[in-house]
Amino acid sequence: MTRRVSIARCRDYDPERVMAAFLEVLAPLGGISAFIRPGDRVLVKPNLLTSRSPGEAVTTHPSVVRAALIAVRDAGGEPVLGDSPGGRNTPENYRSLLRRTGLLPVLEECGVDAVFFDGDTTEIASPAGRVYRRFHVSSAVARADAIVSISKLKTHQLTLATGAVKNCYGYIPGIEKAGYHLRTGPDRRRFADLLLDLYEARPPVLSVMDAVVGMEGNGPSNGTPREVGLLLASPSAPDLDFVEAYLMGFDPLEVPTVSEAARRGLGPRALDEIEVLGLSIEEVRPQAFRRPASHLFARVPAPLVSALNRFVLARPRILVDRCRRCGICSENCPPGAIELVKGAPRIRQEACIRCYCCQELCPADAIVIDRPLLRRLVEMSGAA
Ligand code: SF4
Ligand code: SF4
Repeated sequence: MTRRVSIARCRDYDPERVMAAFLEVLAPLGGISAFIRPGDRVLVKPNLLTSRSPGEAVTTHPSVVRAALIAVRDAGGEPVLGDSPGGRNTPENYRSLLRRTGLLPVLEECGVDAVFFDGDTTEIASPAGRVYRRFHVSSAVARADAIVSISKLKTHQLTLATGAVKNCYGYIPGIEKAGYHLRTGPDRRRFADLLLDLYEARPPVLSVMDAVVGMEGNGPSNGTPREVGLLLASPSAPDLDFVEAYLMGFDPLEVPTVSEAARRGLGPRALDEIEVLGLSIEEVRPQAFRRPASHLFARVPAPLVSALNRFVLARPRILVDRCRRCGICSENCPPGAIELVKGAPRIRQEACIRCYCCQELCPADAIVIDRPLLRRLVEMSGAA
């Protein structure tokens, strides 16, 4: 199998420039018609992690989604859009999220419906699944003739980088994600296996990545926007994630979804296994991205980390002054480590599995990750 990833320049989010770059990045792959047939019902699946404005670089930018909807329609497909953000979703808050993320005007312009993922669900099978063999997902995922994934280039507290494979996690209704996550505990590899089980159950036919403005540091929702000026595309989500991690300046095999995909034979082990089309990867590679705070110790052997746990473990902490007492963190904490005491969240650190879902989903940026002194000293010394 030839592994192909295409790269095109896209210097900003001007809708027409993004449209041109979208067509340019797909051209070496045969254009969108190489992936969908006329009459196909095509689910366009952006990353709508949480309700943030486009400038915060948390969600896929509306200009990139617009380009995908137009390209699918021009190829004779019938596009619909959908995702399930983390947390308890209702049709009302989903609509409000579509407004906040800048997608409502795009949907209106393109005459495309947004499916409320959590309203109609079904089961899909992942026969070779290592963590799960069945998943409860939106019926729109099961019904689509083809899925086009539009992920966002970002760092991630748990998985170092989030990308095309992890974008599939949105197939699962928001409130159910914590239950799936619980079985993997704090083990990043096992969580990656869960994501790959889901990916294999329903792989997108095409994965595009919004890397015009990405995120570094404490992604996927608390990091810093970082201009990259690129769109990426591939028929294979694991191949795309490998290139993403390389562009960010990481060893791609440090990203658990990439290394586990390689172990399964779904993705590459080295860059030279990929045919990079369009621009030269070395030409466009930016300076290395800042890592998330939780990941600076990822290369230290696990037994050593666990022996030094209390001195090095990065822990979530709630900023009481910022907290709006919405309860989202408590609802979505996989092991139920956050209790609400008179509406105020409290973390039971002994039950916390360091998945950082609470920080990812907090709408008020009221959860920080504390790094103990020893950890900071080791990080400063470069040992981690
Ligand atoms: S910490 Fe964040 S998610 Fe949790 S209750 Fe407060 S505002 Fe909501
Ligand atoms: S408290 Fe936060 S980091 Fe800890 S298990 Fe719950 S969601 Fe994960």
